[in-house]
Amino acid sequence: MLALVQNCSTPLTRAVRPHTYGTYAFTAKACASISPRANSQSQVLLGLSENELKHLALDFGQEPYRGKQLHHFLYRRKLREIQDFTQLPQQFRNTLEEAGWKVGRSPIFETVTSADGTVKLLLKLEDNRLIETVGIPVMDDTVLTRLTACVSSQVGCPLRCSFCATGKGGYSRNLQRHEIVEQVLAIEEVFKHRVSNVVFMGMGEPMLNLKAVLEAHSCLNKDVQIGQRMITISTVGVPNTIKKLASYKLQSTLAVSLHAPNQKLRETIVPSAKSYPLDALMLDCRNYFRQTNRRVSFEYALLAGVNDSVEHAAELAELLHGSGSGYHVNLIPFNPIEGTEYKRPSKIAVQAFSGALESAKITVSVRHTRGLDANAACGQLRNKFQKTPLVNNPMDLAVSC
Ligand code: SAH
Repeated sequence: MLALVQNCSTPLTRAVRPHTYGTYAFTAKACASISPRANSQSQVLLGLSENELKHLALDFGQEPYRGKQLHHFLYRRKLREIQDFTQLPQQFRNTLEEAGWKVGRSPIFETVTSADGTVKLLLKLEDNRLIETVGIPVMDDTVLTRLTACVSSQVGCPLRCSFCATGKGGYSRNLQRHEIVEQVLAIEEVFKHRVSNVVFMGMGEPMLNLKAVLEAHSCLNKDVQIGQRMITISTVGVPNTIKKLASYKLQSTLAVSLHAPNQKLRETIVPSAKSYPLDALMLDCRNYFRQTNRRVSFEYALLAGVNDSVEHAAELAELLHGSGSGYHVNLIPFNPIEGTEYKRPSKIAVQAFSGALESAKITVSVRHTRGLDANAACGQLRNKFQKTPLVNNPMDLAVSC
């Protein structure tokens, strides 16, 4: 540490205070910039809170209000480059960049727009991996009244639900908090409109990346200013994580991907169910409601001839009534994907299923499928790019962009 202090210029001597910003230990890295490029990993501003940004400013010998300005540029002006923070002194901007700091926004690699206005974006991350994020607008005549960002929490997914395209593409890694937050900002940029709702229903299983998901949730709520109630975290169920999430007492919605009314059938559709019996999952959901007072929403992908009969609906109603109250069922008629035999049920079958739930006094909605032609609907977040989620040759990129 002493050697570092002696090597640092005057303002940077403050950096010996061991601050941690997100996942990065700051001290050594700020100083590393003095010996050029000792640090090859960039430090990312996006995702930091106002307080963290004030500390960062202090560590660079600046007044705390510079941290407030950083916050403004990141989350109000939503700028992509430190050099665009023109109200900051040029020297501070340069020093930040020389120390390896950057905003942390990824380029948009591809944009696919569906006839219904849904937009799927592929973002190219720093390690050349591609992730998908979807913007779903709701229009009232010509006025955009709601804009939902469906965000990914992982590159790919390790859980391999049998009807979901994401799992079939394999799994690469967890996303970091700024890589989750930036998806929302990218949707805002494309639509030139604020995102009103965020659903963690893109690629990946949020509960396998809970730390980063919670950090991103906090940033989206406090910094990007999206109400907690406008955020939904969707999970197929990972043992012990629902209890953990409940302990944070968030005012957000927990959505649980159920897809079957009994353990036997669920295991055939969702292989990971073998390690999390339905009884235990339902108990955790019941406790989640008790602790947070937030209604749990159950997602149920309707697969023709597999889980879509009125008998299944009756069994589902029984399961839910036996597990307390405060539930809602969201039916998602299967969105076709390559490589499965599953079929979407007819409208009549969907209505019969939903009617059977309603007559058993279960509140139910049927998800109106959006973005089918852009392969952006639920479970379709996979395309030719995700089959090779790593972009190998930078020259290919230059051609594609
Ligand atoms: N891993 C999380 C979030 C991602 S999937 C989870 O499982 O909840 C978001 C929702 O889309 C889940 O309910 C998932 O089961 C559903 N889904 C996935 N593939 C689908 C498909 N082909 N058709 C309809 N719904 C699908």
